[in-house]
Amino acid sequence: RQAAVESHRDFIRSWPLLVDALRHVAHPPIRNRGTIGGSLAHNDPAAELPAVMVVLGASMILQSATAQRTVPAEDFFVSPLETLLAPDELLIAIEAPMRDPSAGWGFAEISRRHGDFALAAAAVQQIPGDAARAPGARIVVTGVAERPLRVTEAENILCEGIWSAARDKAIRAAVETAVEPFEDLHAPGWYRQQAAGVMVARACQDALMRGTDLSTCRDKKPGAVA
Ligand SMILES: Cc1cc2nc3c(=O)[nH]c(=O)nc-3n(C[C@H](O)[C@H](O)[C@H](O)COP(=O)(O)OP(=O)(O)OC[C@H]3O[C@@H](n4cnc5c(N)ncnc54)[C@H](O)[C@@H]3O)c2cc1C
Repeated sequence: RQAAVESHRDFIRSWPLLVDALRHVAHPPIRNRGTIGGSLAHNDPAAELPAVMVVLGASMILQSATAQRTVPAEDFFVSPLETLLAPDELLIAIEAPMRDPSAGWGFAEISRRHGDFALAAAAVQQIPGDAARAPGARIVVTGVAERPLRVTEAENILCEGIWSAARDKAIRAAVETAVEPFEDLHAPGWYRQQAAGVMVARACQDALMRGTDLSTCRDKKPGAVA
């Protein structure tokens, strides 16, 4: 159940991005009944959890009566309400790496009311580089495309280093170019497009503040830009 994960000490410690995102999923009574697997199998294009799974680099374990297979989250979500699950398969487990101790994470969402499906939301994880490895980042938006959308151009900008007004602008521009927002009674496409850029910028700043690499954020205060 979503509520059980949200309040579990191990998840708060090891998958804090998932826990942060869960708090945007509907309301407590819904999360008391809804499951993680149900949300992923349902794959609403504005759902929070598919985006989180892609950011975490999770794998979906699918089981039929005769076989088991493992599918990366990035491939699992195909289009609205469609996944790679075959009619005779169940999603029986999800494997996701535990948080790297130096990693920062951020989740930002805009919706008409808290708990509504996202008009636009962003999930971000940033791992600082060191002598042994290059910095890494994953940025995924939801609510603005047919499936959780990775914005690699924005990831590259985030990895370049210190946060600045110019980097904030460049990341928002990269997101606005990448998304394919749809229009519905909740919001026009242009609104979702701009909101996606702002959500990514906010989530990136949270990720930089929570990570251990002090060089990436000049002033570790919420909303600070150089
Ligand atoms: C009022 C309301 C508001 C909501 N708001 C949000 C929101 O803001 N954000 C959000 O992300 N979600 C939202 N949800 C969705 C909710 O959080 C649940 O994720 C969703 O309803 C799925 O519920 P469930 O886990 O009971 O799955 P079910 O309803 O039981 O299943 C959903 C689908 O997935 C299939 N399925 C379920 N489990 C598996 C499995 N293990 N393997 C294979 N197939 C499976 C079922 O056959 C069915 O087709 C909302 C739901 C409601 C009712």
